[in-house]
Amino acid sequence: MCPVEDVNDLPPNAYSGSTDETLLEAYEPVVFNVHTWLLVEDNDITDPNNPNFPQVGQNEVLESVARLNHSFNKFNIFFKYNGFSVLNDTTLALQINDDNPHPACSIAAYPNFTSYIDARNYINSQSNNPNVVKPNSLNIYVMKEARCFGGMKISATAVSTNQVGMTQNNLTHEMGHLLRLLHTRQGSGSSACETVSRDANNPCDPTLPLQNQPPCFNADIKGDYIVDTAATPSLGANQFPNEYNTGSCEYTGEGEDCQDTPYQIFNEDIINVMGNAYACATNHMTTGQGIKMREYIETAITNSFPLADAEVDVSALYEPYSGSYYNSGPYLPEHTPLFQPGFTYSFLRCYGDYDQPSPYGDTSFSYTNGNILLSIDKYESDYSTITHPNRSAIYIAQLDGYVVNRPRCCYNNNNGFASDGRTVKFHDGVVNNNYTITERDSTAINDPHLINNLENGLYKIEKEYPDGTQTQTVIYKGEGNE
Ligand SMILES: [Zn+2]
Repeated sequence: MCPVEDVNDLPPNAYSGSTDETLLEAYEPVVFNVHTWLLVEDNDITDPNNPNFPQVGQNEVLESVARLNHSFNKFNIFFKYNGFSVLNDTTLALQINDDNPHPACSIAAYPNFTSYIDARNYINSQSNNPNVVKPNSLNIYVMKEARCFGGMKISATAVSTNQVGMTQNNLTHEMGHLLRLLHTRQGSGSSACETVSRDANNPCDPTLPLQNQPPCFNADIKGDYIVDTAATPSLGANQFPNEYNTGSCEYTGEGEDCQDTPYQIFNEDIINVMGNAYACATNHMTTGQGIKMREYIETAITNSFPLADAEVDVSALYEPYSGSYYNSGPYLPEHTPLFQPGFTYSFLRCYGDYDQPSPYGDTSFSYTNGNILLSIDKYESDYSTITHPNRSAIYIAQLDGYVVNRPRCCYNNNNGFASDGRTVKFHDGVVNNNYTITERDSTAINDPHLINNLENGLYKIEKEYPDGTQTQTVIYKGEGNE
């Protein structure tokens, strides 16, 4: 549950109100850095690797960013994991929604908790303090304990969530608010009430009370301002007469809008992430919601709103969040570059002289489409497997169809140690069928004196690597070839 209602604070004319899918599909990918703050109390352990650390850890943070990508990639909105920090601050770690009149939601009952409004105001007062707000990122604050709410939008670039909600729909909901989505129930029962009608040819007269007019259309200027989400009342627990079936996720109530028109609420509305039918909520958002977010993002970037500072280039998705690439010398544990989960990766065999990966913009290397050295599903849960195999380039399926999407960043390093191999000597000095094969074990094939110790002649040297790849080099060993 998220207590703070928002206003439709887009600049005039920034939102078209369109629900046209082709308009939505025309938007190019946009990527935002995401930094997560794990809030713990003043005297709590700070080391997230300590078993007594009272918060979630890196795995959950990675999972939360993956779920954001699962939710928003269909709108070509992407999130780049930009690390996490631990912040020891009891006033932020323990927050309570004391606007809720229930006695269990009062500061009197929980004197060591901070009102969520005070916590929000404090974070917003620290916008230039990098120990509280990460610049050039969207900031996610994960509360140690949150009473009577699950999270909220804090600013144009920050949201909060509880520990459970960060890897569930709650974080998607708050990110929706950050991107200017309102609750689908917005305004219901008030003078801002959205009517059921979807007949745009019969608009309401904004100068007259709705109760004094026959059924009319105002979905574009009331409620959540989005026409393809139905007029919806609150659908939380005990909301008679507005019940829904928690099995079929269909509306079963008999409620009416403020013109006494029976609600027409569909499964798509019940499962919408900006609704409050929590038993049925999914990460679903409509085309109209997607267009509103994209038009807001466009406006924010054009006008250098704070959101624009968190944008990064698409190439950031091709950079590992941890580990480094092997170049030469001994292999070390850190030579495992890891990529964020949430995307469907294919690592395709590529060719070229790249001891380190080629830059994102370098498309001069070749690759073999059918030769996939590693496939990663967007729901892969063993994050240690999401690495970049030698001799491959990275392909991200979620970027399909919008930009010139192709494998990027060919990594083809020949400095590593082969597991075994062979030398093939061609006795006639040309490559033909008159040859002798000598199998070589790992010591022999990696021997730096291998070529020096060969008799003169024409050879093919084949090396097999532990990752299943192979290299072939044809050499002529002659006089002076030391
Ligand atoms: Zn909300």
